Amino acid sequence: MGAVDDWDFEAIEMAARRQALRVAARAVERRLNADTSDHAGPTAPCPCGVPARYAGRRAKAFESVLGSLRLERASYHCAACAAGVCPRDAALGLDGTSLSPAVTRMVGTVGAMVSFAEGHDLLHDLAGVDVPITHVERAAEALGREIAADEQRVIAPEPPSAPTMYLGVDGTGIPMRAAELAGRAGKQPDGSAKTREVKLVTVRTAEGRDPRRPPGPGPRLGHRLGRHRECRQSQRRRRALGVRAARGP
Ligand SMILES: [Zn+2]
Repeated sequence: MGAVDDWDFEAIEMAARRQALRVAARAVERRLNADTSDHAGPTAPCPCGVPARYAGRRAKAFESVLGSLRLERASYHCAACAAGVCPRDAALGLDGTSLSPAVTRMVGTVGAMVSFAEGHDLLHDLAGVDVPITHVERAAEALGREIAADEQRVIAPEPPSAPTMYLGVDGTGIPMRAAELAGRAGKQPDGSAKTREVKLVTVRTAEGRDPRRPPGPGPRLGHRLGRHRECRQSQRRRRALGVRAARGP
């Protein structure tokens, strides 16, 4: 029996990863803070069009996959917007967020699959990244809005998938939180409601029938939960985040 057989290997591998990430974080932080070329002069253009005035180097903490990074960036102040402008943030994909691009991607991935609280736990357990639940929620919502806007702007034409398509509509009750049911009449003995109705829409074709199978509805092209704003938003967000996660940089 060698001495290593007595190791708590899980504790050691986790501690080693923490240590390695800490060293890497300090190296990246040093490298970024050593480069002050983002101070390009007394003014920098603000997105509003007004030149913003240089206000010194300001430090801000960003959560990265290496851990927290304290980055010093040239900060400009726009009097018209009463807001700061940091060209370095824009260059590194850190504009308007405290999460690094890789952490933002992770948040998008977990946000599309599980609740924000579960996403927070997964990020902590799997990646050793500590992002407060509220930040997970905020970042996932912002990503969803960004992608929804992108989907509105960029419409890629697709050839018609079939000359005839069939629509099916049905309604079903889904359990809701008490807050969503306040003041709504329902079928409970006391007149309250436990569920609200969602509409399920199926879109399908009858083209390309497989001769080896009995006739029936063609492949389902897609379905969408409607009726409740909450449902639509949640579904779109999950779908959008999924798209972002799959799309790559
Ligand atoms: Zn401005």
